[in-house]
Amino acid sequence: MYDIIIIGGGPAGLTAGLYNARARMNVVLLEKFAPGGQVLTTDWVENYPGFPEGVSGFDLMDRMKGQAEKFGLEIRSEEVLKLEVEGDTKILTTNQGTLETRAVILSCGASWKKLGIEGEDKLMGRGVSFCATCDGPFYRDQEVAVIGGGDTAVEEAMFLTRFVSRVYHVHRRDELRAVKLLQERAMAEEKIEFVWDTVPTRILGEEGVEGIELKNVKTGEISRRPVQGVFVFIGTEPNTDLVRGLIDLDDAGFVLTDQKMETSVPGVFAAGDMRSKGFRQISTAVGEGAEAAHSAEKYVEDLQGS
Ligand SMILES: Cc1cc2nc3c(=O)[nH]c(=O)nc-3n(C[C@H](O)[C@H](O)[C@H](O)COP(=O)(O)OP(=O)(O)OC[C@H]3O[C@@H](n4cnc5c(N)ncnc54)[C@H](O)[C@@H]3O)c2cc1C
Repeated sequence: MYDIIIIGGGPAGLTAGLYNARARMNVVLLEKFAPGGQVLTTDWVENYPGFPEGVSGFDLMDRMKGQAEKFGLEIRSEEVLKLEVEGDTKILTTNQGTLETRAVILSCGASWKKLGIEGEDKLMGRGVSFCATCDGPFYRDQEVAVIGGGDTAVEEAMFLTRFVSRVYHVHRRDELRAVKLLQERAMAEEKIEFVWDTVPTRILGEEGVEGIELKNVKTGEISRRPVQGVFVFIGTEPNTDLVRGLIDLDDAGFVLTDQKMETSVPGVFAAGDMRSKGFRQISTAVGEGAEAAHSAEKYVEDLQGS
């Protein structure tokens, strides 16, 4: 019987693991791929405090992992398939067996919805991005494409205009879904050129993005834009399959928690991108990981004291 099991080894999970291991809890972290999470898909991180020169995504996560392991965190390569609750005991079914624990910290992250077109996977992190806040400054005075018509797409396109010379804002319909105020701001921005009724069909380039191929959905006409970056904002999908039906989720499927990161099930906590919230970053995931770790410790102590 573990005190705490952490599911997912991104920034949120590794931070929770650091705190719980350092507090001498009987804790294990289960990660289905390599510890590091989404950050491993980005070349360079410039907005994580403490690294004024920036840091590679790999180095940052290697340091977080090393720091947690230094305090004794056990990290296992294991995928959690099911979570069940029986009284105060949480039962995890993984691809390698069954584990029992008093508390669980969910830090499974979220996956950006992909376009699913040629060139996207190959050029991810090398011109294809899902985060303007993170990668925008790398495209100073260059041309980029933004894909999507919701609030995020418009906000991120506006943010990109601080750096780039032109944004081709590609949307499959002839009007945006974003709120009116955002639409008005975007329409007034000289650097944004809207490409309506259009979907991307191919991202061009070998080592980096060199252009994007587009198709007008009404006329069928194919065209190209010579962009160096493609920013995809067609929504995110939380990795919450294993807790669907067990804990409360918001309408988009993200986990609802209170300020202590506790979910609707006592002893089950959540942190990071899978939470229902407004801003998904390494720094926010790290803060929530620490909070969840602290709350999980208190929960286990209270159980043992009762
Ligand atoms: C290309 C890109 C660039 C980015 N750049 C920046 C940046 O510069 N600055 C910044 O602040 N943010 C950046 N972000 C956002 C940042 O990466 C995320 O906000 C952050 O990683 C969220 O951390 P997390 O721990 O919640 O989840 P994740 O990083 O998504 O980690 C979740 C982990 O859980 C594991 N997992 C999921 N399900 C299971 C399961 N059932 N069993 C076991 N393991 C499981 C996954 O394999 C994954 O390793 C970027 C994101 C992307 C995609």
